[in-house]
Formats: sequence, C-alpha cells, structure tokens
Amino acid sequence: MAAPHDVCIRGAGIVGRTLALLLARQGLRVALVAPAQYTRRDADVRAYAISPQNQQLLADLRCWLPEADATPVRSMVIYGDRRGVVHFDADRLKVQALNWIVDVPALEQRLAEACSYQGALETVDAPVPAPLTVICEGRASRTRAELGVEFESIAYNQHAVATRLDCEQSHGQVARQWFTLDGEILAFLPLAGPAGHEVAVVWAARPAQARAAAGWTDAELAAHLHELSGGALGALEVRGARGSWPLIVGQATRWVGAMPGAPNQSFALAGDAAHAMHPLAGQGLNTGLGDVAELAAVLAAREDWRPLHDRRLLRRYARARQGDWQRMRWATDGLQQLFTHPAPLAAALRNRGMTLFDYSGPLKHRVARLAMGDARP
Ligand SMILES: Cc1cc2nc3c(=O)[nH]c(=O)nc-3n(C[C@H](O)[C@H](O)[C@H](O)COP(=O)(O)OP(=O)(O)OC[C@H]3O[C@@H](n4cnc5c(N)ncnc54)[C@H](O)[C@@H]3O)c2cc1C
Repeated sequence: MAAPHDVCIRGAGIVGRTLALLLARQGLRVALVAPAQYTRRDADVRAYAISPQNQQLLADLRCWLPEADATPVRSMVIYGDRRGVVHFDADRLKVQALNWIVDVPALEQRLAEACSYQGALETVDAPVPAPLTVICEGRASRTRAELGVEFESIAYNQHAVATRLDCEQSHGQVARQWFTLDGEILAFLPLAGPAGHEVAVVWAARPAQARAAAGWTDAELAAHLHELSGGALGALEVRGARGSWPLIVGQATRWVGAMPGAPNQSFALAGDAAHAMHPLAGQGLNTGLGDVAELAAVLAAREDWRPLHDRRLLRRYARARQGDWQRMRWATDGLQQLFTHPAPLAAALRNRGMTLFDYSGPLKHRVARLAMGDARP
C-alpha cells in the first residue's frame, strides 16, 4: 500500500514550516513532525534580518508580517575598531529595503497558523514513512546523527548574547554593527516599525565574557552595550529576556541520501541541519530559506516519471545550494577572522580597507548584494 504521505518533514522551525507550506501548495501530502517536547519552549528573544528574496517568499505564502513586527532597514552602518566605517543605503541601491528585521516569535506564530489552515499538511508527533524525508531539525539534529551523517564543525571562540533594548533615540531604520578592538561584535537591529525606539541586540563575545555577562544586572549590561555602541542611540534599557548561543561554522558531509533499510525512501537536509554559520551577517536562516525554496522548485520541476525519492533529483537540489552556502560561509568566516585578529597591522589594514571599500563602486555593490542575502557570483 502506498504511504499516505509524500514527504515527511522533521522539525517545525521556520525552515521546516516554510517547506511544509511550499510543498502542500504543490499538492503534495505533507507530514510535519512537531513533537510537543520540541515545540513547547520559551519565546525566542531574537529578531532576524530577512533578505528581500525571503521577504517575497514569505509574502507569497501569505506569512509576511505587519511593519510593527517586520521593520524595513533603510541603511546599514558598520563601524571598524579604528574608525573605519562602511555605509549601505537602500536609496542608493534602488531597493525598498536592504532587509527586514523580524520578530522571531511573531513569524513562528504566523507560520504555525498558516500550517494549521493548510489541508494537505498534517502535523504529527512522530516520524512517518514517506518517499522523501526532509530533516530541518537545526544544527544539533538527532535524525542526521542517526543516519550516520557527520557534521564537521569548528567552534568560534565566541558566544552570541541576544536581548532587546529600549533606546532613548529612534533607530531611524538603521541597522548598526560595531567591531571592537577586543574582538567583540555588536549589532543593533531596528524593531517596532520605522519610528521605533527598540532594537534587537546580538553581541558576540568571548565565552568567558558571555558567561560573566549572564550574571550582570540589566543596568550593567545596558552600560556595557552603551559603551560599545558609543552612545549612538542615547540611554539604553534592557527589556525582556536574554539568550546565549555558542557560535560555530559547520556543515553536514552529505545533504541527501538513501534511508537505511527502507527501499524507495530518501532523505535531504535543509537549514541549520545542513549548515551553520556565524550570525554576524544575519544569513543563517536566509540560507535555510534559500534551501527550501530550491528544494521545492526542484521537486516541482521533476519529470513526471521521476519519483520523489529519486536521488539524482535530490542531488540537483544539493548541487544548487552548496555553491551559495560556500560563498556565504567564506564571507562570514572571513569577516569574523579578520575582525577578531588581534595584530595591530591587521587592525590598521582592515580599517583602512573599510574606508577604501566605502568609496569603491562595483565591489561595494557586490558586497551589498551579499549582505542582502544574494550569494550568486
Ligand atoms: C544570535 C543569533 C542571531 C541570528 N540572527 C540571524 C539573522 O538575523 N538572520 C538569519 O538569517 N539568521 C540568523 N541566525 C541564524 C538562525 O537562527 C538559524 O539559521 C535558523 O534558526 C535555522 O532555522 P532551522 O529551522 O533550520 O533550525 P532551528 O531554528 O534550530 O529549528 C529546528 C526545529 O526543529 C526542532 N527539532 C529539533 N530536533 C528535533 C527532532 N528530533 N524531532 C522533531 N523536531 C526537532 C526544534 O525544536 C526546532 O523547532 C541567528 C542565529 C543566532 C544564534
């Protein structure tokens, strides 16, 4: 008897739910594995920078958010540790926004609602057999390990601390990032709409410093962030929870393969289950959404006679995505290494380089496209 589902998606994060909606829209019968132990957790304090391409993807799925939860970024300013500065501007690049800063719980809720209205999509508590299983369980994926797929990773000597701040001054739709002399990286991402006074913070610091900061009062944390940001947004007040993540760069050694012991069943990895990168460029989720958009397109374009478990088909997906992932990896890893290198000569070079770069034409345009999530060569 044929399996009642065409595709089983393991992991109901943003990547898994987006894929579920894309495939159900194609008329595929989708099982989305979302056991209670993985869905019942505290609200995520983070906000994500979502690229224009993925904004369109989510809008097409009717999952885009109102401006109060998705602030358009009009400018981006990056400050080096010795007065180097780079600006990106939506007007100069002739785009509506460089990206959008999205409240994570609001996006998760919108996707969950959309999934609950989609008739071809069934949410289940445990994996079900299907010609194709897509693993979207994040970077610590258990299924990936059970399948014997290795995840090669290198730990950065950094943890990311995330929280939210109320600011005296409006963010003015500007995303700001500072690279400090001590190798810390701080981002203030604008929230609460165009006139908002709220920012999402991602502060990457050495693990010992991040652990020490967990014991700081809100006022002490605000004072440190005020100092790192040079008071750019006036007085700061920490609001809400904090979260901390050890940072790694890594990738699965195989992205597609056969399900062991199950003829006519295959698997594919997507999102952080396939690759993980430093959040300094805000591209981890964007790359994961690029994966599922590509996988859905490859499945939709398959020849009539080709089944969903056909590994030649799945290799088309893996090949198409690995180039983008490698370019993003190279860019984020290179920036992290460059800005955490302590040698004075490296500091002088990177800041001088930033200033020259700020005046460069095509190169700056190319990097702006990369920052907007477009990794094409
Ligand atoms: C501080 C920080 C800031 C970031 N900022 C940005 C940004 O601005 N822009 C951006 O693009 N990216 C950003 N990222 C990266 C982004 O968080 C990830 O790339 C993204 O969350 C990956 O989504 P995912 O759905 O693949 O995995 P996850 O978000 O990890 O979701 C996996 C889901 O699967 C579930 N799950 C796990 N195991 C199982 C199992 N065995 N069975 C069933 N379900 C399971 C989990 O509970 C979860 O719901 C940031 C990361 C960090 C750490």
